[in-house]
Amino acid sequence: MSRIIEIDPRTLLILVGVSGSGKSTLVRRFFPETAIVATDRCRALISDDESNQAVSGPAFELFYSIIDKRLALGRTTVADSTALRAEYRTALRELARKHNFAAIVLAFDVLEELANQRDRGRNRRVGSLVISRQTDAFRNSLPLLADEGMDAVYTLGPADLDALEISVRDITTGGDGPFDFIGDVHGCADELEELLKQLGYVNTAQLTYIHPEGRRVVFIGDITDRGPRSIEAFRIVLNMVAAGSALFTPGNHCNKLMRWLMGHNVHIGFGMETTIAEFDSLPTAEREEFRQQIIALVSKSPAYLMLDSGRVVACHAGIKEDMIGRQGKDVVSMCLYGDTTGETTAEGLPVRRDWAANYQGWRFIVYGHTPVRTPQIRNNTINIDQGCAFGGWLTAFRWPERTHMQVPAYRVYYNRHLPALGQDERFGPEALIPR
Ligand code: GDP
Ligand code: MG
Repeated sequence: MSRIIEIDPRTLLILVGVSGSGKSTLVRRFFPETAIVATDRCRALISDDESNQAVSGPAFELFYSIIDKRLALGRTTVADSTALRAEYRTALRELARKHNFAAIVLAFDVLEELANQRDRGRNRRVGSLVISRQTDAFRNSLPLLADEGMDAVYTLGPADLDALEISVRDITTGGDGPFDFIGDVHGCADELEELLKQLGYVNTAQLTYIHPEGRRVVFIGDITDRGPRSIEAFRIVLNMVAAGSALFTPGNHCNKLMRWLMGHNVHIGFGMETTIAEFDSLPTAEREEFRQQIIALVSKSPAYLMLDSGRVVACHAGIKEDMIGRQGKDVVSMCLYGDTTGETTAEGLPVRRDWAANYQGWRFIVYGHTPVRTPQIRNNTINIDQGCAFGGWLTAFRWPERTHMQVPAYRVYYNRHLPALGQDERFGPEALIPR
């Protein structure tokens, strides 16, 4: 079975492995010659001899310098060296950090005998003594890699090498941060405006906020329903997206509102009745303008956002690792509704699997959809829906700081059709945050 590694273009791929482990051969399958910066090549460029160890100092200088300049231009780059010492890996990781590139390690875990055999089969040999020493260094490095601050570490065994595919795709949709992710607003525009002010956003026009330092809000859906100011909450989103101070990815309530505004038949419940009442009381011209703006925004917004060189993914209900980078019906459904089983509970709510409990990916995922009492961090994921409309909190999660800021609900706006929640950590009629 083939193994696919998807990387963002803004990635420095750091190869780690002994001579003859097949590093250069593998990456040549996926990258143009110019993207592969090899220490061997640097030795040759200055001394006409790939194996001239006497020029290691200047060859490494050249190696780091080329990588530095490539990353400055935003070019995907492969660092092809043995990288068997932690300090060399640190130097490469620091270069990636400096240019806001992801640092991803490919560790070539091949048997010493195979490396020796391949070494004997090529013109320029390093010899079994060197390979033996390098193999010891590799064995020592392997357990350290996970704690060296890399964005991801992939260890490749002999079986992986032939079947491996590396795909470089621009799956990042929102650019670089810093970001303030805001969870399910659900019509709580008073709390939203307070939260935006606390985050340092400045009110520049009616229902419009801009951060003086260029921070951007990422709204992760479910702007309307249940709270008292759904239309204005969505106007804030629309205005901020238009002003470039916010990004938006839709939730199930956004999707349903869009379908209703398009004239489709949808079930009016779970708080949607409040939004429709607000909509119906708008003057005709405003109603039509709002209708068109919502349809335009929701229909063109991606099901999830890949941000900060792919380090962080924002979506409403969740996403599985193998969905990231893909589009498609299953992905859209997961992002809007979560990992539903197709069954419903006695209260008529969909049964959902706990995808975050099993998430193993390196990208950090910010989501909401299912209200939980406090921002819940598990396996590189965070749930920032703290049920504001149910009397909880409106949460902002700040990236890259990884801190959060919250505004408590001014009151309980909605107490019907509560999701089927567990006892403590989730909201239920008996478990609302004490005021
Ligand atoms: P590096 O030192 O880790 O960069 O290793 P190379 O990529 O230069 O590979 C060392 C030698 O092994 C070369 O002669 C390659 O042609 C050969 N080699 C590399 N990968 C494979 C492989 O998957 N199968 C076979 N049969 N030979 C390989
Ligand atoms: Mg090589």
